[in-house]
Amino acid sequence: MRITVTAIKADVGSIGGHTRPSDELLSSVERFVKKNKAKAGLIDTYIGYTGDDIHILMSHKNGVNSSKVHKLAWDAFKAAADVAKGQGLYGAGQDLLKDSFSGNVKGMGPGVAEMEFEERPNEAFALITMDKTEPGAFNYPLYRLFCEPSANTGLIVNPKLASEVKLTVMDVMDNKKAEFSIPQDNFLIATVLMYPGRYVIDSVRNATDPILSATTDRLHNIGGTYVGKDDPAALIRLQKDFPATEEACSVFKTVHYVAGDTRGSHHMPLMPVKIKTAATANYCIPIVSALLFSMHEGKFTAHTDAFETPDWDYFRTKAVKKAEMMREQGFVHPATLIPEELEYSKGYRAMMGEARKRFK
Ligand SMILES: [Mg+2]
Repeated sequence: MRITVTAIKADVGSIGGHTRPSDELLSSVERFVKKNKAKAGLIDTYIGYTGDDIHILMSHKNGVNSSKVHKLAWDAFKAAADVAKGQGLYGAGQDLLKDSFSGNVKGMGPGVAEMEFEERPNEAFALITMDKTEPGAFNYPLYRLFCEPSANTGLIVNPKLASEVKLTVMDVMDNKKAEFSIPQDNFLIATVLMYPGRYVIDSVRNATDPILSATTDRLHNIGGTYVGKDDPAALIRLQKDFPATEEACSVFKTVHYVAGDTRGSHHMPLMPVKIKTAATANYCIPIVSALLFSMHEGKFTAHTDAFETPDWDYFRTKAVKKAEMMREQGFVHPATLIPEELEYSKGYRAMMGEARKRFK
């Protein structure tokens, strides 16, 4: 049975700053999706949030880029944005950049990750969602997962994991894609992934199957000016000829430094959190959560939270320690981003313009 799994996410408003959506916002999305899911041909849905971003996960048989499916998510977010405005939530409707739907949510603000595949008898996959960071936050963990045997022994003991596997990278500035072979091109892959502000992992597939799909739109390129960090999400198929669940999740133990955080203008570590966690008010340490699903005939039979077990508390503490170390840098780069990457670059440029007048 060929099934498409589509995840669409957007920030349409949150409580007291960029923290988490209100309960009314979530129930508005849930109600809308429930009411219209048959019309869009959906088999099953799951709705959750990570920080201020709501994600709608949908299974169906309409293939990728289905306008029916994308429109359902768009309309659900539109309705929720009205609720957010009515509640006076912060950033109400902020990720909905266009007025009318034009067939596909790509380029309209919400992020989309989706894959169509022949469902396995025991289909397992993860929905990984991040907040207060950018698509390039996936670069280092996914490089280690797909290309680095010292992080993923599976690459040695199951040669299928690196057999005819292709990794596609997107240049988010020029809107171009490039395909690389694992492991033949590993050093080339590492070279492009070195600067995650521009080059980001788009997808991974082998000879017969898609394995990973990530959201890759950057909001500042869509709107012409920077309107916010484009918090990413990815779908990744697990087990057998794909990464094992524990291989895919453990690459997030590194809590590596990523761009984002307060005012989208800093470098901070990526902290693994439980599902439905609000963004932290501790300088908005970037967060990542991972939901594991089993699916049968397109039905999400059950899900579990990958980062809820006690061992992950240790890595949360590690992230807080790394965050504290970085914050000791104050305003000095690399605690802050380079000027082109600053979300508040206008303010910085105005201040620099003033300062430059003093140079003689
Ligand atoms: Mg967000």
